[in-house]
Amino acid sequence: MSTLPSLIGFCVRIGTEDIPLAAHLAVAGPRLPLQARAAGTVLSGTGVSPQGNGAEGRGGLAVDDGVAVVLAGELYHRDALAAAAATSACTDAELLLACYQCYGPAVFRILNGRFAALVLAAGQVVLATDHASSVPLYVRTTDRTVEVSTEAKALARPPDNAVVDGHGDLAGTVPVAGSPGLHRVRAGTVALLERSATARIPVARAVRTWTPPVSRIMMEPDRAVAAVADRLDIAVRTRLAGEAPTLVLSGGIDSSALAALVSAVQTPARTVSMGTEVADEFEAARAVASHLGTEHTELTVPARDLLRELPFAVAAAEIHDPDVLEYLLPLVALYRRLPGPSRRILTGYGADIPLGGMHRTVASLAELDEIIADDMSTFDGLNEFSPVLSGVAGHWSSHPYWDRDVLDLLVALEPGLKRRDGLDKWVLRAAMADRLPMQTWQRRKLGIHEGSGLNSIWSQALREAGVPPDTVASAKRTMARQLYASVVLSGTPADQVDVDMLLMREVG
Ligand code: AMP
Ligand code: MG
Repeated sequence: MSTLPSLIGFCVRIGTEDIPLAAHLAVAGPRLPLQARAAGTVLSGTGVSPQGNGAEGRGGLAVDDGVAVVLAGELYHRDALAAAAATSACTDAELLLACYQCYGPAVFRILNGRFAALVLAAGQVVLATDHASSVPLYVRTTDRTVEVSTEAKALARPPDNAVVDGHGDLAGTVPVAGSPGLHRVRAGTVALLERSATARIPVARAVRTWTPPVSRIMMEPDRAVAAVADRLDIAVRTRLAGEAPTLVLSGGIDSSALAALVSAVQTPARTVSMGTEVADEFEAARAVASHLGTEHTELTVPARDLLRELPFAVAAAEIHDPDVLEYLLPLVALYRRLPGPSRRILTGYGADIPLGGMHRTVASLAELDEIIADDMSTFDGLNEFSPVLSGVAGHWSSHPYWDRDVLDLLVALEPGLKRRDGLDKWVLRAAMADRLPMQTWQRRKLGIHEGSGLNSIWSQALREAGVPPDTVASAKRTMARQLYASVVLSGTPADQVDVDMLLMREVG
């Protein structure tokens, strides 16, 4: 039986009438009607379930005693939650419902998971993200309805004749530019919406459920190393959910560490690496795969095809920052080439953020810690962890380094444990030194945009189209914005966008 989440995305409308909502979502998989009556109102819409999921998505909705819950994604430490709420709930949505009835909105301070949730309870619509807003959540409130979706494009246009709150101050959210009244719920936040007697449009109140630690822990190096190994091991085991995942492996320390941890539980582990004719990290990944005895695959994507993935990457991430797109696109290209049915995928993405791995040249520990603090306070909205990145191909991905418990520890370790003995990410490297070949645990960082050659492929394509070298960076920004306008704001399907045409347009 598959243990994938019941829902990997949804789009619902909450109102007094049952108005069908056309669900324009990039996430792929069987579409299921979501319908419930709770707290004197109606919830209706569409959920998307992974292909081949035994529960067929029914588990994403739970209703009991006037309270309805819609949950996209999954919860971790389920046994402890079930014990605390004294429930024998079987699905994660039922578990959340039972815990909500016990703790109220404060339950979201307790949860470690990868989810976006909606709770409809007495007089309130409750919207919640996980600590990292790893499943993005969007909302629009009007005089008649509240619309909620895990993808902005599904709500790109307001409903006809509705009065939209255009002022942009919905507590706990940030406005989405280019889409009237649309807001994104912040990371680690609950937005509680209530209708009042005086305002036509529901008013929100925000509750923070997580913030990145700003204090630092002084720890004996040996203890820090053991603590990192231990928490990461738990995060990996939780995410295996009893089945063999597919690990996207570059051969860098982050993904290789996960390969070692997965291999300790699941033999043989499945690993896959991607490259292009311009660049690859195949040799580094192969060294890890053969050391651990994983079932390893290599995938070569032609450079031109890689660039044609841009509309899919933008449709999945719903962002237009070209730098972030360069990190995410190679993964989208890889996920779209993995055969079905839906798989559980693990990635080493994000380890560099709390460990400062991209900043090995900064002069001082003070500077390193400043960068880490800054990166941790600016990740929200980049959508780097969005499940839609793999969801466009029907797969479910997760990121053990951004497990809440792992992240809390990694961020908080004092910077001298992150840079030590001339090594960046020292504490992680030391934790894995006895499980990986020396060349692996000491290997220097190579970003996926470099390892796949994407940054140079994109630049080269623009230069070949006639863009002068000194305007290549701004041409990338323009292209990304145009793609965003097209596949997110206008709702054009990604497969109908011609990347070659866009490249040519950059010359004019
Ligand atoms: P990086 O930008 O190198 O930190 O990459 C982030 C994560 O993406 C890694 O930890 C891997 O899980 C995955 N990854 C990066 N490059 C590749 C690649 N060439 N093939 C497969 N997975 C990769
Ligand atoms: Mg890398």
